[in-house]
Amino acid sequence: MPELNRRELAAAAAGGVLVAAAAETPGPPLAPPDRQPPDLKLPQPVRKAGYAIVGLGKLSVEEILPAFGSARRSRAAALISGHPDKARQLAQVYGVAPGSLYGYDDYRRLRDDKDVDIVYIVLPNSMHADHTIRALEAGKHVLCEKPMATTPAECERMIAAAKAANRKLMIAYRIHFEPHNLRAVEAAKGMGGIRSFASTNAQTTTAPNIRLSKALGGGPVGDTGVYSFNTARMFLNEEPVEVTAREWRPAGDPRFREVPASVSYTLRYPSGVVAHCDTSFNAAESRFYRVTCADGVVHMDSAFSYHGQQLRLTAKDGTQIPRIRAIDQFAAEMDHFSDVVLDGGTVRTPGEMGLADQRIIAAIGEAARTGRPVRL
Ligand code: NAD
Repeated sequence: MPELNRRELAAAAAGGVLVAAAAETPGPPLAPPDRQPPDLKLPQPVRKAGYAIVGLGKLSVEEILPAFGSARRSRAAALISGHPDKARQLAQVYGVAPGSLYGYDDYRRLRDDKDVDIVYIVLPNSMHADHTIRALEAGKHVLCEKPMATTPAECERMIAAAKAANRKLMIAYRIHFEPHNLRAVEAAKGMGGIRSFASTNAQTTTAPNIRLSKALGGGPVGDTGVYSFNTARMFLNEEPVEVTAREWRPAGDPRFREVPASVSYTLRYPSGVVAHCDTSFNAAESRFYRVTCADGVVHMDSAFSYHGQQLRLTAKDGTQIPRIRAIDQFAAEMDHFSDVVLDGGTVRTPGEMGLADQRIIAAIGEAARTGRPVRL
């Protein structure tokens, strides 16, 4: 109600016009004029890249498809599978149109699907090269799971196919988009130079599993070990020049007929830094790294897990545990690629990075087989 002065109040009391005086005084409307909050901010429509997911196994079903729910610029547009029933059920859940379901031999038909910008390869490693090349030849950009393939020669063919098709090729190294790991890299820059890197990425892998099959490109180095040396590159910005390795195949364990159970290896870099790493399919889950610098140490537990990274920075003046908001790494990784495909720019984890890692995987294999250091 507007404020009345003393004379008006007296007059109002005498004449009984208080209600009338208040009603006649104009003021702001009290209810929203068209039943909407006037300060409601509507988000702008955003163009999203359409993804065709190839291979609907554990990673696609449990992580990638749910991640579209938190993605900013990425949406599920098609599914490519050898199991039509599974594809149909997932299509219903994720709103993929029945006409956007494909088999492994349908890349010709996929070419005409304008709703698909990017093909995401989530198949056994031995199938990455073939499907990547077929998707590129169908005019699509490709996001390919790690490890990029099974040999450096396959990686070279994939990179050449991307160039020939003038399409982008990215390898799905999600750690490059995970904020604790990015903060760890920044922290190390202020610690006076890196002196050594140590990392374990170990888990228990039970049969049956694509990771235990040589023909499908399994083995712990490409599957879990690759995280350690791919992440070492984020800190060191250099490539190793020499590798040593030892592998372990416990006698009598049928899981390790075709691939080693554990591999311990060192990588020597031009700066003089040596990375000491190991990886295993036959151990409790352990995924950490420790970067020892001149003036401090970066410790990261659960470094390569989907959730729960624990970063600790130690230096002379004490210990810091930075508080960092967790994100969905798969959504962040897909959104980066979508940004590059839709707006242009540079892929942070390109095919060339996958090739560099594949050369390291091959060198570790050779060093383990021969027992001798292998130069890169
Ligand atoms: P998975 O075994 O659960 O799924 C594999 C899929 O490939 C299944 O849908 C299967 O039907 C299909 N497939 C087609 N041909 C096949 C064949 N001949 N043999 C077996 N399966 C065949 O595997 P996954 O864990 O989903 O891994 C798939 C890929 O994703 C691998 O390259 C793996 O390295 C990668 N991966 C990445 C991460 C990550 O964090 N980035 C995590 C897990 C797996």
